[in-house]
Amino acid sequence: MNSLVTRAAELLHASKYAVALTGAGISVPSGIPDFRSPGAGLWEKVNPIEVASIFAFRYQPETFFKWMQPLARKILSAQPNAAHYALADLEAQGYLKTIITQNIDGLHQMAGSQHVLEVHGQWREAICIRCYTIFPSEQFAEMYLGTGQVPHCSLCNGVLKPNVILFGEQLPAQVVMKAQQEIKKCDLVLIAGSSLEVAPVADWPHWAHSHGARLIIVNMQPTYLDELASTILRADVAEALPQIASACQNLEQSHE
Ligand code: ZN
Repeated sequence: MNSLVTRAAELLHASKYAVALTGAGISVPSGIPDFRSPGAGLWEKVNPIEVASIFAFRYQPETFFKWMQPLARKILSAQPNAAHYALADLEAQGYLKTIITQNIDGLHQMAGSQHVLEVHGQWREAICIRCYTIFPSEQFAEMYLGTGQVPHCSLCNGVLKPNVILFGEQLPAQVVMKAQQEIKKCDLVLIAGSSLEVAPVADWPHWAHSHGARLIIVNMQPTYLDELASTILRADVAEALPQIASACQNLEQSHE
C-alpha cells in the first residue's frame, strides 16, 4: 500500500484545488452501518420506499420514526473516526478545499472540517413538513429515541421530519449548486468510502474527470470510475486516509 499512499500524496501535493467526496463507508468505522450494503440489515427487512420515502412519511410518520430509531441512536452517539480526522487534517494543511458528503451524520464537522456540503441533508435539524420551519433536532431526539413518539411543530403542529433527504425528495438546491461549482473548479477528487452508486452525486467525479481532474479512490468495493482513477486504494478508509495525510505532511516538510 505504501507506494499507493505516496502516489496519492503526490497527486494531492500537485493539485491546486482538491475536493473530497465521501459516502457511507467513511462512517462505518464510527459504528454507523452502510444501509445500502448487503448484510447491514436496514434495507433488507423493509422496502425503503415503503418507510423512508416522503410519501410514506407524510402518510405514516410513526412507522418511519419507529424504523429510524436504531439508526438514529447510532448516529446520535457516533464519534468521528481516523478517516474523518485525516480529511480535516488535509483541509487544515491546505490540500482539501471542500468535502462533499452523502452522509447525514455530521461527523466531518465534529472532526473539525470547515467546508462541508451535505447533499443528502443532515440530522442536526428537523424541518416542519407543513410550514418548513427548521428546529435543532436535539430537543426532539429524546422523543423519537425514547418513546418513538412523532415530534410536532410548535408553530403549526405539523409533523417534524429530520432534515435529511428521503426517497422522492429533491436534494437541497443551494447545496447541490455549491457542490457542482466545486466540482467544476477542482483539479482533483478524492473519493473516500463511496462506491459511487447513488445519483446524482456519483456522476460528479466523472464530470470532474472529463474536464481534466485527477481521481483518487479509497474504497473497499470497486466503483464504475476505477478505470479512470489515477490511484486506487482498496483499503480501510480509517487506515489509508491518515497515511495519506501524514505522507502529505512529509512532502510539505521535504519541500521546505
Ligand atoms: Zn410548522
